[in-house]
Amino acid sequence: MHPPAQEPDTRNLKICIIGAGMGGLTSALALAKEGFKNIELYEAASNLGFVGAGIQLAPNMARILDRLGVWDPIFKEAVDVTETSIVQGAGDTELSHVNLSYINSTYGYPHMVGHRCSLANGLYEGCKREKSIKFFFSTPVESIDSFSPKPTFTAVYRDGGAPFKVEADILLAADGIKSRIRIAMLEKLGVEAHVRDTQQAAYRIMLTQDQMKDDPELLQLLDSNRVTRWIGEKRHIIAYPISNHTIYNLSTTQPDVNFAAAPEATYTTRGSKSAMLNVFADFCPRVQRILNLVPKGEVCEWKLRVHEPLPAWTHGSVALVGDACHPTLPHLAQGAAQAIEDAAVVGVVLASMPNGSPESISKALRVYERIRKDRAERIVDLAAANGRTLHLGDGAAKEERDRQFAAAKAGKGSVPDKWADAEVQRMIYGFDCTKVARDTFTELFNTERSRLS
Ligand SMILES: Cc1cc2nc3c(=O)[nH]c(=O)nc-3n(C[C@H](O)[C@H](O)[C@H](O)COP(=O)(O)OP(=O)(O)OC[C@H]3O[C@@H](n4cnc5c(N)ncnc54)[C@H](O)[C@@H]3O)c2cc1C
Repeated sequence: MHPPAQEPDTRNLKICIIGAGMGGLTSALALAKEGFKNIELYEAASNLGFVGAGIQLAPNMARILDRLGVWDPIFKEAVDVTETSIVQGAGDTELSHVNLSYINSTYGYPHMVGHRCSLANGLYEGCKREKSIKFFFSTPVESIDSFSPKPTFTAVYRDGGAPFKVEADILLAADGIKSRIRIAMLEKLGVEAHVRDTQQAAYRIMLTQDQMKDDPELLQLLDSNRVTRWIGEKRHIIAYPISNHTIYNLSTTQPDVNFAAAPEATYTTRGSKSAMLNVFADFCPRVQRILNLVPKGEVCEWKLRVHEPLPAWTHGSVALVGDACHPTLPHLAQGAAQAIEDAAVVGVVLASMPNGSPESISKALRVYERIRKDRAERIVDLAAANGRTLHLGDGAAKEERDRQFAAAKAGKGSVPDKWADAEVQRMIYGFDCTKVARDTFTELFNTERSRLS
């Protein structure tokens, strides 16, 4: 990843990034690796503050992290998934079983699962090694004042002091699903698009080896290399071991009844253990034993929201990245992976533009949008569809789904859980976004118009 010799001036451009989530951290790192010398990252929180939860590290994510030089420590702590079992929640009978060990040889990386902190810290440590990246924690961006020719925004130090203005050459908004910059961009474009309530919520749970030690059957799950999905009507649980098999991670999905009384802007709430047990009351004894191990005060529930498709991801010298432009339901485990793909492509297009003029920046960002938008939105739709399939209630559609699960188990036909389906994996894991961006940049750039205000 060396800057082309004939590109002197672009590397001095000032690039500001809002949000130190997976999208923002990876953007900063990708740009630093491309030789950009002046990168500022503004984060509202005082530190990375990542939730205690697991995360799937799919091969399309791993490929990018490896190229950025941060994969090794993440890989070392993660667990390699070699199989998945889809199980009826109530009866604990296996509907289907898929061997996933071929993923490593097919895509060059295994499908791993790890701790969010391990991923975030891996990226953060990588960023800290780059002199060109400056972090501003406890510094929320309050508003954007201009999109071009030079984006300007207002931020404030949480620790005190008056709001201050920042002028950049390029602004990347990786500020998550509640993105202020997305709202401002839509306003500027004169279009309406809104956050969409999915009526689904998630509990995220981690159990330690010590908490599971008295239950040999549960310890088997911890020692395995298996992702288990227990499914039921409108609900499911996905579970896997992380952190070198020392933690068992569960993420659930259920109707979000507990958020009914919460304000619109609330995304997490402290859940009650009894409510959680109630939601899964008809699931099998194995699940009951797992959920009963969760300490009382440690139940946190997440509201799952998506967004109506955006007409544009960029305007002037500003681009949206990650959940800010394509929040994705977790049913394909691709939200962070897609944010990381965005970042990798942003790195390539900005490094490839012929000069640092606002027109050139705007065109390069539109190339980013052209490479990324259709793919990310396709994955958003597929994830939602996968949830609908997994959550079917009694009836003909469920019978047909379960017939397909059984056929797939017998080696005939594709598995209805699209996360485990080889064709879907080919589309998602087999796509090398960095290569595509490098191979297509010149042609796309030359046919692109700038989008200046
Ligand atoms: C239950 C669940 C399970 C999931 N599992 C997976 C999985 O297995 N694999 C996967 O790839 N993805 C998964 N995802 C999706 C993934 O977590 C998200 O897609 C990803 O974290 C989005 O990253 P981001 O950087 O775009 O946004 P975020 O992580 O939301 O980061 C945004 C950052 O911007 C900061 N910020 C916001 N506003 C401002 C402001 N005004 N000024 C300064 N800073 C600001 C925030 O503090 C935050 O740090 C899951 C999601 C859920 C809900």
